Amino acid sequence: MSEIEQTIDQAEALRLHAELNRLQTSQAIIQRLGQILDSKLITRDLVNAVLEHTRYRRALLLLMDERDAALSFGAIAPPVTSSEWMTALNDLFISTYNAEHDPMIRSWLQGQPVSIVGDHIRQTSPMRWLAHILHTDHLYSVPLMQQGRVIGVLVLDAGDEAGSAEDEALLAALAPSLAMMLFNARIHSKTVDDLAAKMRQLYILRQIDRELNDTIDLQHVFAMTLDWALRFTNGQAASLALFDEKSGDLRYVAEVGYSQTKEHLAALRGEHGLSPAHRTARAGRAEIIPDVSMDKDYLRLSNTVRSQLCAPIMREDRVIAVITVESKKLNAFAEEHLDFVEKLGARAGVAIDNGRLFAESVREREKLARILNNTADVVIVVDMEGRLELLSPSIIGVMRLDPEENYIGQRYVDVFENTPLLDSFRQVVASEQATVAEIHLPNNRTFYANLAPYSGIGWIIVMHDITPLKETERLKSELVATVSHDLKQPLSVMQGYTELLQMVQDLDPQVSKYIHMIQRSVTNMRALIDDVLDLARIEAGIQLNPKSIPIQTVIADCVEAVKPAADAKAMQIATDLPDSLPPVLGERGYLSQIFLNLISNAVKYTPARGSVRIWAERHGSTLRIAVQDTGVGISPEDQAHIFERFYRVRRPETDNVDGTGLGLAIVKRLIEVHNGQIGLVSRLGEGSTFYITLPIASA
Ligand code: ADP
Repeated sequence: MSEIEQTIDQAEALRLHAELNRLQTSQAIIQRLGQILDSKLITRDLVNAVLEHTRYRRALLLLMDERDAALSFGAIAPPVTSSEWMTALNDLFISTYNAEHDPMIRSWLQGQPVSIVGDHIRQTSPMRWLAHILHTDHLYSVPLMQQGRVIGVLVLDAGDEAGSAEDEALLAALAPSLAMMLFNARIHSKTVDDLAAKMRQLYILRQIDRELNDTIDLQHVFAMTLDWALRFTNGQAASLALFDEKSGDLRYVAEVGYSQTKEHLAALRGEHGLSPAHRTARAGRAEIIPDVSMDKDYLRLSNTVRSQLCAPIMREDRVIAVITVESKKLNAFAEEHLDFVEKLGARAGVAIDNGRLFAESVREREKLARILNNTADVVIVVDMEGRLELLSPSIIGVMRLDPEENYIGQRYVDVFENTPLLDSFRQVVASEQATVAEIHLPNNRTFYANLAPYSGIGWIIVMHDITPLKETERLKSELVATVSHDLKQPLSVMQGYTELLQMVQDLDPQVSKYIHMIQRSVTNMRALIDDVLDLARIEAGIQLNPKSIPIQTVIADCVEAVKPAADAKAMQIATDLPDSLPPVLGERGYLSQIFLNLISNAVKYTPARGSVRIWAERHGSTLRIAVQDTGVGISPEDQAHIFERFYRVRRPETDNVDGTGLGLAIVKRLIEVHNGQIGLVSRLGEGSTFYITLPIASA
């Protein structure tokens, strides 16, 4: 082997040895870093590993941001101790955007290492700056490429001397693996970060749900919504405006983070109807404005705002408000912020709706309270648990309650214990049906009370003072009684003398006719006065002394009494009243009055040769008696009135039928006194059937 050959062999051996070394080192580094998945950890370990296995003084890793636009500080080894340096490093920002004029950056973008020595450093700006920070003249840099893109740059300080070729070769061999590991770790960390952000968002949204659900105060809801929006988006100022769908206007109701006053902001906004917030409201879509200077609609409220985010607050597919968040940073808002504010908006929508409903109900309640304050009627609202929910102030005087005491929330039965209001209330609660009652209070006042159950509310009791009405009624009855009595006196005299007149022999037929007419009028007048007196007596309240009465005998007597009238019109009166019918509970005199009225009406209002039929049957604990005729009948409109005092149907066919219009009024009241009921079925021209139910005596 020649000397030259030997030399070559030696060189080859050295080269191989170096290669082997490099391989071993590479493997050691890769093994060490390959296990790390956290991007922060890997950047720190990467610079440490490089430093340990090379002769460089310092290793610095620059990382490219997500949009491939700039490099910034990632990690440095050994760590710097000066805080001034650290701040400088943290502020490091090397834009790679539009950097063709910078040869160094161009090399990096092409994946080529750049070695800069001495004076050259002074010329390439970012590096000059780095050299300045690191106090060095020799820098070597290796771009870390992944899928053709720079994801980071490793910058090495070789100290006073240029770095060794060996180290540069090692870095060249190692760079692809380092890039790959860095890339994987970043992807992993991003996934984990995204997940964490999602979890955080979920957690915050849950918290928001809880807080918003707990409040019905609208201003509080607005303030809370803006607070959350700012916290999660890192914005500096935010506002909330309600949207009026009809006019397309925004009404600002809350703002935080602005230095101006509310009024100043309002003045700045003026009548502006085309801001991005309006756009969002009308389109119902959230949007990010990365650079407000590029948006022609942007409404500038502050000189420092650079970017904006607008999101609608929706309620059932309708935009009800808009949230606007502003930042001093350009491009400050990302998709995740938009997503969050949108979700926040959905929650705020529900809360705003609830708050509005509540405010509405408060207003309604106040309105109601004002109405109640001004009404003389007493209104009591009782909730489902039987507690007082609302009381009109008039109750204090009426029920003699303590004006100092707060009765709301107290139990009805406790507050109105020992008052007539208690029984009526118990009755409504038990029957679940509305009732009316006349309530007599110890202070000589009478109230008409209406008690009704309301599903979902409880019970409502309205009491109207009818004391004056009662008094008038009493006076009227008194008057009627006296006047009637005084009227009857002269009538008796008139009747007596006409009877005497009739006895005079050879009366002129004309005179005889006149006397007859006077007699008829006198009879009518007596009947009227009797009826008026009867009614007055009944209405003043009669004390019944009920006995067991066989209804057959009562009706037979009445039929007997009207027989002459029936015969005069050739009418038949048939009765179907078997002996087996149970007796009723009542007073014979009043029962006679009832049936005499009904049967004589049947005869009166039925044309000649018609017929009347009376029958009865048992109905549970009552006896049901029917008086049917084939007469003129009663129209539905008149049926509604015939039981009223002095009501008479005006029809040609009954024009010459005498009557007072009081008979049925008396009948109805007498039946009520007997705890019975009256009703009728009738058709005009076809006849009428009056039905009466009376309680059976044995029952
Ligand atoms: P009146 O003294 O006029 O008969 P009532 O109170 O007894 O007064 O009856 C009121 C009105 O009801 C009568 O005027 C009559 O028009 C009508 N009416 C009562 N009973 C009958 C009946 N059986 N058939 C038709 N109309 C009747």
